[in-house]
Amino acid sequence: MFFRISARTLFTRIVGVIIASGFVGYLFGQTFLAISMVSLSLLAWHYNHLFKLIKWLWQGKSIAPPQANGIWGRIYDGLYRRIRKQRLKQKQLNERIRKFRDGAEALPDAALVLSTELIILWGNKKASKFLGVRWPDDIGLRIDNLIRFPEFSKYLDDGDYHSPCLIISPINNELQLELRLMAYGSDQILLLARDISKIQRLEEMRRDFVANVSHELKTPLTVVRGYVEMVQASETALDPHWKKAFTTIETQVSRMDRLVEQLLVLSRVENNVDADNHQQVNLSHLVLTILEEVQWLNQDKNHSINHDIAPNMSINGNEHELKSACLNLISNAIAYTPTNGIIDIILRNDSNKIRFSVKDNGPGIKPEHVNRLTERFFRVDKSRSRNTGGSGLGLAIVKHVLNHHHGELSIESEWHQGSEFIIYFSPEVA
Ligand code: ADP
Repeated sequence: MFFRISARTLFTRIVGVIIASGFVGYLFGQTFLAISMVSLSLLAWHYNHLFKLIKWLWQGKSIAPPQANGIWGRIYDGLYRRIRKQRLKQKQLNERIRKFRDGAEALPDAALVLSTELIILWGNKKASKFLGVRWPDDIGLRIDNLIRFPEFSKYLDDGDYHSPCLIISPINNELQLELRLMAYGSDQILLLARDISKIQRLEEMRRDFVANVSHELKTPLTVVRGYVEMVQASETALDPHWKKAFTTIETQVSRMDRLVEQLLVLSRVENNVDADNHQQVNLSHLVLTILEEVQWLNQDKNHSINHDIAPNMSINGNEHELKSACLNLISNAIAYTPTNGIIDIILRNDSNKIRFSVKDNGPGIKPEHVNRLTERFFRVDKSRSRNTGGSGLGLAIVKHVLNHHHGELSIESEWHQGSEFIIYFSPEVA
């Protein structure tokens, strides 16, 4: 139902009333009095409705406006229509908010809505269970006043929310939480906290299992190797069949030994067993030592190994782990480059970072394999890798070492042309 009134209609009506009242007054010889009386009555009628409207707006309990005829009836109807529309919208909005809240409560994660100033605006029940956020008492508090862990403060200061932040729950130290922050709407942040205690425990069990099995395998391997060497060194000439068999056993035992050794290194690096991660390590010195040590590896292949090592490049970290990472890249270059290859090893400053690169003119790696190289046991060509004694763990070790040292690994490679493995270190961090 629509009602429209134009200024012209209104004007015509007023003029009509004035003319009509003037005409009636004229008949009785009181034109001015009649016009005045009618105008005053009109004014009184309007004021009466204005009072009714104000009373209804400010004191009325019912949503239905007062009853009236004429223009005021139209005004009240219009207002009533608007109120009903508004109430419907409000109802729909409430329904949506209720659905959102039900959804947020059904989440297995704690969810908090924060303002861009990190002030808590809303949270689900899990937020109080995981993070101790009390509803509604803690609304308006900054989240870093409730979660007071240095790693969380650093995470917020850095402002890089692409990766999660791992913390222990502030109210239950058996709960390990993974916090993720993401933009929510135009001016809010959604914080999700997931309980990863089970995953962490399984991960711990996996690491312990690998470490224990590798450790347990060491002794039998040493015994087998000892006996094989004893037989090979014995004065009694062996039947050619047995000689071949023992050579094969020796080769395979050596492979297994290397694999177990690498598994142990990987689990040590993963478990961060070497607690001293803040040594001042002179990388220049470290790389030169490695270059001396790998000379014997290069005896068969006779590569030209060129190096350009800037002096006194130092970082804070764990010398043992850093040596393992650099050695892996150099020994891979030696192992995978065919005889008489060229290997360039460079250590230098590169715009506020220390850049260590190992470049070879070996077989290169196809682009689709490059991203998978740091996965455990990933080998591009299993048979070639097996011939070189590779286990597929070397680059996984490098990745873990770099995680500890805030380093980055970049791999550039062209199939059939060669590869370059580059590590970037920030000199001030460990
Ligand atoms: P592995 O012990 O097998 O060498 P890594 O993790 O060190 O294991 O390397 C993973 C795979 O990456 C290797 O099996 C090999 O296929 C490839 N790779 C590593 N370095 C090079 C290189 N310099 N040139 C070509 N391929 C390489």
